[in-house]
Amino acid sequence: MTGISRRRFTQGVGAVAGIGVMGGFSRAVHGQGRPKVVVIGGGAGGATAARYLAKDSEGALDVTLIEPSKSYYTCFFSNLYIGGFRTLESIGHTYGKLASDYGVNVVHDWATGIDRDAKQVALAGGGRVPYDRLVVAPGIDLIYDSVPGYSLEASGHMPHAWKAGTQTALLKNKIMAMPEGGTYVMIAPPNPYRCPPGPYERVSMVAHQLKKTNPTAKIVILDPKETFSKQALFTEGWQKHYPGMVEWLPQSILGEIQSVDAASGEIVTDLDSFKADVANVIPAQKAGMIAESAGLTDDSGFCPIVPATLKSTMDEAIHVIGDACIAGDMPKSGFSANSQAKAAAMSIRADLLDARAFPPRFSNTCWSLIDTDDGVKVGARYEATEEKIAKTDGFISQTGEDAELRKATYEESIGWYEGIVADMFG
Ligand SMILES: Cc1cc2nc3c(=O)[nH]c(=O)nc-3n(C[C@H](O)[C@H](O)[C@H](O)COP(=O)(O)OP(=O)(O)OC[C@H]3O[C@@H](n4cnc5c(N)ncnc54)[C@H](O)[C@@H]3O)c2cc1C
Repeated sequence: MTGISRRRFTQGVGAVAGIGVMGGFSRAVHGQGRPKVVVIGGGAGGATAARYLAKDSEGALDVTLIEPSKSYYTCFFSNLYIGGFRTLESIGHTYGKLASDYGVNVVHDWATGIDRDAKQVALAGGGRVPYDRLVVAPGIDLIYDSVPGYSLEASGHMPHAWKAGTQTALLKNKIMAMPEGGTYVMIAPPNPYRCPPGPYERVSMVAHQLKKTNPTAKIVILDPKETFSKQALFTEGWQKHYPGMVEWLPQSILGEIQSVDAASGEIVTDLDSFKADVANVIPAQKAGMIAESAGLTDDSGFCPIVPATLKSTMDEAIHVIGDACIAGDMPKSGFSANSQAKAAAMSIRADLLDARAFPPRFSNTCWSLIDTDDGVKVGARYEATEEKIAKTDGFISQTGEDAELRKATYEESIGWYEGIVADMFG
């Protein structure tokens, strides 16, 4: 352990307790042969990074992807599953092609610690994976106690469904089992959080489902914010498609959330008490735990990066991409993570293989479905400045657009989905 600072030792070993000092990987291997790039997290950012690193280096890099889940369920389009437009299976994806077609070494395990001095990642299953460059893409973790009374255990009764998979299925089952005329209450998250329009697209999809199966049901949004993404578009859509069903209460009306009770479904705010038949609690968020334990986060809970390369400002050998990083004007979205992954992969290839690096181009579009064939979008392009990833131009759907345009916008989102999952998983 000589050479590991006390700070990093504390951060790393807390997370890797129980793992053998060298585990199954020999330190002697480190640095020999092809440069080693390890990616933590096989989501929108990490899977894309692993694929581009392997594909574009044509075997010159040894790429390892560490991801615990064998199936990745996209949060994007998970709201459409809740609305009945998609099956859960249709948003699940596996890592087989990354291994077979691109030669990525896919390790299904948790990364439990990063030893930044030794340049090794510790695994829950034992062993350490050495790296020359590390891409950290763990997405978000939820700050459960940002909502008083909420906890990991409570999320089994009041799902957040802000990581897709079993939580999303649980929320949908609860919505389908709601008593006639019951109340769905969403506690929306404070900024910054994953997918700014996501809570409001979800409300649209819950309303779509309830309109069919439980038309006298009510939806209440308890929001710690005063405004939200695409607000005029959502508000217009709710009035048009679901009149009288959706009530939005901002913080200026609501005050603070005092408590939630998972057993009774009671939510107490400064304004009033709400009895939820289904409560969807989306708490505040921070970078995935592994980033924090490795000392890559700042006081915001997210990871500062160098805009052009996505390199951590804390460690030159580590790039942080996706929801975990502070990406300037870019929102936390799958499209953003995918875009950042390509810039990071290019920077890594330039550093390790002397490949040519171009100024990175970043872009994002967030589509939201409000009702059948009624899609809206917001998007922008970005460039890396010295200070941040800065927006250069943008666009947004307009209120009052005709039905043909809204249908075309929805169809564009389906094309995007097919494209991005192919770009992530091959
Ligand atoms: C309801 C909803 C709707 C959304 N809709 C859209 C949309 O329409 N368009 C869009 O662009 N974005 C959308 N998003 C946002 C998008 O899902 C995220 O921004 C995106 O997934 C972030 O990518 P990421 O790679 O940073 O994290 P993730 O995709 O979450 O991937 C992180 C991965 O890291 C793994 N991981 C975490 N910790 C560890 C560890 N210690 N060791 C190993 N692996 C680890 C996790 O298992 C996970 O697979 C939506 C989000 C939600 C919640």
